[in-house]
Amino acid sequence: MWKTAGGSKCTFTSPRPGAVAATCLLVTVMLVVAVGHPSIPVLDVSPLSLGAAGDKEPLTTGTGSGGKVFSAYFRKLARERRAVSGPPPGGAPPGPVEHLSPADLFIAVKTTGKYHRQRLDLLLETWISRNMQQTYVFTDGEDEKLRKRMGTHLINTNCSATHNRQALSCKMAQEYDTFIDSGKKWFCHVDDDNYVNVGSLVKLLSHYSHTHDVYIGRPSLERPIEATERLGTAHTRQVRFWFATGGAGFCLSRGLALKMHPWASDGTFMATAEHIRLPDDCTVGYIVEALLGVGLIRSALFHSHLENLGLVSDIHNQVTLSYGTVENSRNTVNLRGPFSTSEDPTRFRSVHCLLYPDTPWCPSLQRL
Ligand code: UDP
Ligand code: MN
Repeated sequence: MWKTAGGSKCTFTSPRPGAVAATCLLVTVMLVVAVGHPSIPVLDVSPLSLGAAGDKEPLTTGTGSGGKVFSAYFRKLARERRAVSGPPPGGAPPGPVEHLSPADLFIAVKTTGKYHRQRLDLLLETWISRNMQQTYVFTDGEDEKLRKRMGTHLINTNCSATHNRQALSCKMAQEYDTFIDSGKKWFCHVDDDNYVNVGSLVKLLSHYSHTHDVYIGRPSLERPIEATERLGTAHTRQVRFWFATGGAGFCLSRGLALKMHPWASDGTFMATAEHIRLPDDCTVGYIVEALLGVGLIRSALFHSHLENLGLVSDIHNQVTLSYGTVENSRNTVNLRGPFSTSEDPTRFRSVHCLLYPDTPWCPSLQRL
């Protein structure tokens, strides 16, 4: 269903596609823009187009064991996968256009108090430990242990520790403002269940100029959202826009981020999200595509746990990974060792040893 109230993402998150379709047919959100924000038209977001026939397939088709239980769910996701594979519409430039280093990136990790131990510690042990200088963690409560480890790179937003639209857009608003103040070339947002391969990320972004308008990530849906903007009392306009799902991570160039200023800076991001009543990642898509007219560049290198992670190959070159569960079964990338699935259920430790075999806690190369 649309996680507009309890979730962070403007995306399908229910593992039950039948319920998704039914809910989406019911949910036509009339978005009322309050007086005092003249630059945002009234928007009637209708995700009707998202309830494709295939969405009504039952989830469980097999024995309930292993991969079979996923099959219907992943058939839907396979369509989504096709939607992001192939060359991006704009076409990435053939070679690097800008020399970039990790220091040019600002990576914002969104988390919440209850996930500090459960999720964030794993990231600190793995990819963040190698990229402390460009990583900032946005959370909602103090944590002495984390503070000691991250210092000023831990940002206590004082946003509410609830999983609702306001709380989540409150964090995104601060991610945006902190990025603008940082002077870095690229803003990237990820969730606390993402592994970021910073080397691949730098390589990808170096194909674009940070002064151009670049919004890159993975759409979570096969089609853009269709929405109706009311420009006045009598005039309406259909808007369709793509957005990159926050759960797979996405990046914005500084050039584009600066243009987002009127709708994103100093508290206006929350107002924009509130006016259109959409979650944080979707609001970014709305500002970029619908208001600024800049198209999302789709990249199949970003991964959320809404896709079948077992199908991800060439792990070395992926930009983000994730993990999750579907019907009590794990959805993770599939890679051999060095750790077993019980030692490393998310597979992030194994991925980390693949990318950084010199890590002290990784088994020696002979064992890999
Ligand atoms: N999150 C948050 N506040 C909450 C719950 C979640 O900031 O109250 C963050 C969480 O840390 C993660 C993101 O929102 O970075 C998405 O949460 P989760 O992975 O649990 O949900 P899903 O991927 O299913 O949307
Ligand atoms: Mn998640």
